Amino acid sequence: MKKKRLWIQKSKEYGNLNVIYDICDIIINLDRKSDIIINNRNLIHQENELLNKPWEIVDYYFDNIGFCRKSSDSSIIRHNYIPIKFLSNNMKLKCKYCGHELTNNDISGLYKAKRLQLWEVDQNKNPNDITIYLINWRKNQDDKYLKFPGLFYPGMTRKTAKERVYGNGGHFYKAFSNPKTAIEYTIRKYGLNPKKAQKLFKVEVLQIVEDQGTQKATQELANTIESFWIGFFHSQFYEFGRNIEPGGSIVRKSIILPFDSLDKALHEACMLPRIGAISRKPYVYDKLGMRETQNRILDNSIEFWYGFTLARFENVIRFKRFNIIQNLFELGYKTAYISNEINADRHDIIRWIEEDIYINKYLGLSYKEIRIALLSDKIKKYVSEGQITPELLLNVLPGFKNSDAIKHFIRQRLGGWNNLIANYALKEDYWLKAKNLFKQRKNEIELGRSSDYTAVEFAQALGSNTIHTSAAIKFLKRKLDTDMNWLEIKSLLSKKKID
Ligand SMILES: [Zn+2]
Repeated sequence: MKKKRLWIQKSKEYGNLNVIYDICDIIINLDRKSDIIINNRNLIHQENELLNKPWEIVDYYFDNIGFCRKSSDSSIIRHNYIPIKFLSNNMKLKCKYCGHELTNNDISGLYKAKRLQLWEVDQNKNPNDITIYLINWRKNQDDKYLKFPGLFYPGMTRKTAKERVYGNGGHFYKAFSNPKTAIEYTIRKYGLNPKKAQKLFKVEVLQIVEDQGTQKATQELANTIESFWIGFFHSQFYEFGRNIEPGGSIVRKSIILPFDSLDKALHEACMLPRIGAISRKPYVYDKLGMRETQNRILDNSIEFWYGFTLARFENVIRFKRFNIIQNLFELGYKTAYISNEINADRHDIIRWIEEDIYINKYLGLSYKEIRIALLSDKIKKYVSEGQITPELLLNVLPGFKNSDAIKHFIRQRLGGWNNLIANYALKEDYWLKAKNLFKQRKNEIELGRSSDYTAVEFAQALGSNTIHTSAAIKFLKRKLDTDMNWLEIKSLLSKKKID
């Protein structure tokens, strides 16, 4: 239910974006249904309710990376296209951020029947025609559909799609001999071997750009069409595909490092004791056998596989470490323990706590003062939430050595245990309890099992052990915090509603 409301909200917000959602659904459902039910949104939404929507993922990237360029020193651009015009056979995409537009007058390749037909046409095409093929990956090794949306890789070739992908020197061949591009690494990684890979990664023909008279004109049109399909599938984004370039024939040298080795090198770099970029970058270079001049390769690869730039990656590590420190510190642990956990110097941890982590909350306080203020607040909060014994507090603040250490802290900083409980433990709502007791008694009276409460009986029901009426009334007045006499209390509690 919640998901659905979110979706409705999203589609209002983005207007046209629900169109692309439907289109992507069509693509993803092509193999499952021979009939394409464009209008049967309910069915489609039910199926994909829990899956991420493309614009959410793309928005994530743009929120995190910035605008259309990949990184500040990269020449590669990627736009966040949404369809602004969608007719039966043509579509116009527009970048949400910079307004860049792409048009395609033949999107019939979205239909499976058409793609099957194009596969046949492609075998005997005019040698000047340019084929736009699509490698896609929608099922996992167990033949189950991947979560929305799967991976896409549109490309173009003067050869046939079959030859470009399966032929000698084609993507599959290179994947298992000498992978160079991201799609080839992916085919190798998930395909495991050529035979399995061919089952897993489907190859189809999306569109054939026919001879425009001159080679140049044909190529120019094909460039636009290829860019269109890359933009349509958002396949420059890691979650959607494995295109690095935005499309077109001018292919820059953009080597992408294989994910596994990159990930391993970066992970190990994270664990190095010193914070900051100083020792991490050379470590990664060394590990990957790179030269420092290849900075851009590293930067592009990090951005491609992780979605953020190297500079941000360093920040991410820094904040990740700060997070660990903060979590442990707020559980009551001291620097000696934290220092062991994250492999950092105690003095550095103190400095980060004073100057970075709590800079906004406890400006100008020393490490010790921050610890006292922070743990005092925590203890008060936990007590008010019902952690009303030192043992219970130790469960939520395991950084303290034992419950005596907690008691000691409370004695020194919070005026002692009784004071803490009196001030912060939740007070019992005696009025509510009294009302419920009266209600219960009324039912018993109606059934003839009981008679009206006496003041003594009622005080006893609320926890007193007195047997004298005057003491019982005193007790009730105190507990209910009222000056009313017993009759008044009784009449008030007998009413149906109290407030
Ligand atoms: Zn753009």
